[in-house]
Formats: sequence, structure tokens, C-alpha cells
Amino acid sequence: MDKKLSAAASALTDTEINALAAKIKSLSLPVSGVCGWREAQVMAGGLALEQFDPATLASRLAPGLFAAGEVLDICGACGGYNLSWAWSSGRLAAHSAARYLKEGGHA
Ligand SMILES: Cc1cc2nc3c(=O)[nH]c(=O)nc-3n(C[C@H](O)[C@H](O)[C@H](O)COP(=O)(O)OP(=O)(O)OC[C@H]3O[C@@H](n4cnc5c(N)ncnc54)[C@H](O)[C@@H]3O)c2cc1C
Repeated sequence: MDKKLSAAASALTDTEINALAAKIKSLSLPVSGVCGWREAQVMAGGLALEQFDPATLASRLAPGLFAAGEVLDICGACGGYNLSWAWSSGRLAAHSAARYLKEGGHA
């Protein structure tokens, strides 16, 4: 592929386009490290998921304890999954806690 990268796509042959596509698809970006704690975006670890009822987020060990978000041992890839989890689990835990109190503190 000796044409300049500024060549119009319409000026390339199928072979050249395929060669260019193969180069792009095989581009490798080795991870050289992480940016450290100050740049961290999500926290792994936390309260064990199996100790919480997924339908209510109530603790199976401590009646009246509800958990949501990153305090639980769950984290997702970048792309909104962590915020989505934080909001949806927060809503579920809050509703469950309110119901728990309304029913006199019984799960
Ligand atoms: C820089 C950055 C970028 C991010 N980008 C994305 C993204 O693009 N998409 C995505 O999905 N996720 C992203 N995340 C992750 C996402 O923001 C978190 O997963 C989410 O906010 C966790 O919500 P949370 O309510 O569990 O915890 P937090 O948002 O950490 O809330 C916990 C709250 O508790 C308070 N608190 C702590 N201790 C106490 C205490 N003793 N008493 C009272 N209050 C206390 C804290 O002040 C805080 O307000 C990003 C995170 C960071 C740091």
C-alpha cells in the first residue's frame, strides 16, 4: 500500500481497501499500565452478593440492613453500567427498606 493516506476511498482498489481494513483490524494497543487511584472510576470488592436477596437487596445476615451501589461487590465495564446499577439498586433498596419499616421491621 504505497498510496498516501490522504487518497480518496474511491481511488483505492478492492485489494487496497481490504489491505487497509486488515491493518486497522490488526492494530494492537498494548496496555502499558493503569493511571492509579486518583484516576480510578469504579471500585471492585465490597459486601458479598450472596449475602443479599437480589429481589429486595436486604441482607440475609442482618435484618433491616439494605445495600446498593458500589458498597456491594459488583462492578461493570465503562459505558454507564455502574451508574445504572447505582441508581436502580438504590431505588430498589430504598423501596425495600421503606416496605420493611412500614411492615413493622419484618423482611
Ligand atoms: C471519575 C469517574 C468517572 C466515572 N464514570 C462513569 C461512567 O462514565 N459511567 C458509569 O457507569 N460509571 C462511572 N463511574 C462510576 C460511578 O460513578 C459509580 O459506580 C457510582 O457513582 C457509584 O455510586 P454509589 O452510590 O454506589 O457510590 P458513590 O457515588 O460513591 O456515593 C457514595 C456516597 O456516600 C457518601 N459517604 C461516604 N461515606 C459516608 C459516611 N460515612 N456518611 C455519609 N455519607 C458517606 C459519599 O460522600 C458519597 O456521596 C465513574 C466514577 C468516577 C470516579
